[in-house]
Amino acid sequence: MANNARDEQDDLIDYEEDEDAVAVNAAPGPAISGDADKKGSYVGIHSTGFRDFLLKPELLRAIVDCGFEHPSEVQQVCIPQSIIGTDILCQAKSGLGKTAVFVLATLHQIEPVNGEVSVLVLCHTRELAYQIKNEYARFSKYMPDVRTAVFYGGVNIRQDMDTLRDKDKCPHIVVATPGRLNALVREKVLRVGQVKHFVLDECDKMLEAIDMRRDIQDIFRATPHQKQVMMFSATLGAEIRPICKKFMQNPLEIYIDDETKLTLHGLQQHYVRLEEREKNRKLNDLLDELEFNQVVIFVKSVQRANELDRLLRECNFPSITIHGSLSQEERINRYKQFKDFHKRICVATDVLGRGIDIERVNIVINYDIADSSDSYLHRVGRAGRFGTKGLAITFVSTPEDATMLDKIQERFEVNIPELPEHIDVSSYMNN
Ligand code: ADP
Repeated sequence: MANNARDEQDDLIDYEEDEDAVAVNAAPGPAISGDADKKGSYVGIHSTGFRDFLLKPELLRAIVDCGFEHPSEVQQVCIPQSIIGTDILCQAKSGLGKTAVFVLATLHQIEPVNGEVSVLVLCHTRELAYQIKNEYARFSKYMPDVRTAVFYGGVNIRQDMDTLRDKDKCPHIVVATPGRLNALVREKVLRVGQVKHFVLDECDKMLEAIDMRRDIQDIFRATPHQKQVMMFSATLGAEIRPICKKFMQNPLEIYIDDETKLTLHGLQQHYVRLEEREKNRKLNDLLDELEFNQVVIFVKSVQRANELDRLLRECNFPSITIHGSLSQEERINRYKQFKDFHKRICVATDVLGRGIDIERVNIVINYDIADSSDSYLHRVGRAGRFGTKGLAITFVSTPEDATMLDKIQERFEVNIPELPEHIDVSSYMNN
């Protein structure tokens, strides 16, 4: 533990020495928290529309097409600053539209030049990269000159190289996972000398993992000093914030809900106490009894994911499984099947836990409890996206599970009661 901390420290020190001008002692910018809202320090949250942000008309048209009517709280606060190039460090619970903040901010500012990459977006999983790329596609619908590409490990790097070397295909915006992006930068196929915006989504997750942090630092160092840096996450503990800020200059800090409280709007949470051997039976009953659009069931290992998925399919449930042992192509392919509603039940390991937005999911079942409170938050955040209703049920079968449940309740100051006999459908399903 101590060694790790030292390693990380050393990393940063190295980094600071190299990057003096950018990284040292960024003076803290204004910090805004969700409480500020409640006390009315910015008012009329619903009275401001997307039009008031003075975005490019082609973006406004796309926003209308996407059906966005009102900016969310996080969008209200972040968009005006981010579109003028301010660095942003933003924590806001899952599903409140953080992605749109950086997608809109970068599209608004971009002036595409052929052969030049000007936006880099890094995230920690391939599915999330793929999803962000799709968000860019939606919002740049009326910006035909802007090209976006997604690069991640697990697929042949030659393909990515070909895309980058072809002037007519070379993207202006790159969404990628850190390892693959760093490989492309190292090979000098991806030139980052013109990068103007550097975005980290789920930044804590990436900066906490030593290998990803190294990749990010390498890439960051290769980009110009003068650039906009934006970082986002649903969880942003006090320890990681200063590390994030090392990459930034006078960032606007926004902590929409200081993760001590788990207030995913509209999300009902319950637990079920049972023996390990009763889990399958109980799951079957729940899937029969509850009404759902789509369900994600989280388990703790690949093997359990495969087994449970098989079992569900044998019982004629429209199930699919997504986990880290699948080939990349297969992972994306299955993710698409689920997202496109061809399957209604997805058995997943934590690879699906973060950032992934599947709007029809209204129930999350922790067949195996999460191994940390953060992970719990990210998992249950899959249901009840953007303020829709949802239900999260956690199976508790061992004393360790019970301890974890206590930890989760304590950490988020939330009371998770036992699942009642009957639960009113309207409480977890939108009309
Ligand atoms: P986060 O990154 O904060 O977890 P996302 O950006 O994935 O959240 O947004 C969650 C969902 O809400 C997405 O389906 C997105 O399209 C939708 N959404 C985002 N902003 C708005 C808005 N202003 N109005 C309506 N829907 C929105």
